[in-house]
Amino acid sequence: DPALELDTVRKVYESGAETVVALDDVDLRVERGEFVTIMGPSGSGKSTMLNVLGLLDEPTSGTVRIDGRLTGDLSDDRRTTMRKELLGFVFQDFYLLPTLTAVENVTLPTIFGDGPPRRERAVDLLERVGLGGRLDHTPTELSGGQQQRVAIARALINEPRILLADEPTGNLDRDTSEQVLDELSGITEQGVSVIAVTHDELVTEYTDRTVELFDGRIR
Ligand code: ADP
Ligand code: ADP
Repeated sequence: DPALELDTVRKVYESGAETVVALDDVDLRVERGEFVTIMGPSGSGKSTMLNVLGLLDEPTSGTVRIDGRLTGDLSDDRRTTMRKELLGFVFQDFYLLPTLTAVENVTLPTIFGDGPPRRERAVDLLERVGLGGRLDHTPTELSGGQQQRVAIARALINEPRILLADEPTGNLDRDTSEQVLDELSGITEQGVSVIAVTHDELVTEYTDRTVELFDGRIR
């Protein structure tokens, strides 16, 4: 099975008398370990797509499969569980908790899970993103690029199949962006698929494929 499969996904917003077709029968298939960029002008449907892929929003029609599993018609609990098991998220603003250290931030998602906290895995992931020497630093003691690498480690703690990145280089300078993109392309080698929504052309130099959205359709 592909990591992700969208089949004729349509998302319609009704606001008063106005109807907006944000996604217009979109088909998309992302293989395991593939690194895909989604680009497009403002209003083309990128955020809607990311919300649908992230199981934060349901399509009006069409199907979303992750790892071969249909994600429609699930209870909210089941959908949340699926998100936590299959997906990791990275954002432009990192969203690290300021009072926690790097290793605590990375361990955090496992503290609310069913199993034991996975501190050792957190340490291992931080070492892999080059932050083995910064385990006990808080976010303000880290550079922007280091903070984003902590966020990447956090996104990987529950062993997701797919990592969704929303403008991952949006707050970073070019050198730091390159380091972060190296990390993202490195994790695809372990079979994790990465989907990045971005305006940053630099990202496309690291990805296998660019999907361009225009008026809710893939060009
Ligand atoms: P992008 O992220 O590419 O800027 P969006 O997915 O945010 O695009 O928006 C796609 C279209 O859907 C736009 O026309 C936008 O105005 C509309 N839209 C997005 N969210 C809503 C909403 N909650 N209610 C009504 N219209 C929306
Ligand atoms: P949870 O649902 O328990 O918050 P997630 O894995 O969905 O866990 O989120 C991981 C991290 O990203 C958390 O720190 C959470 O606060 C943050 N986060 C999740 N969704 C969003 C979002 N839409 N915007 C900003 N931050 C988010």
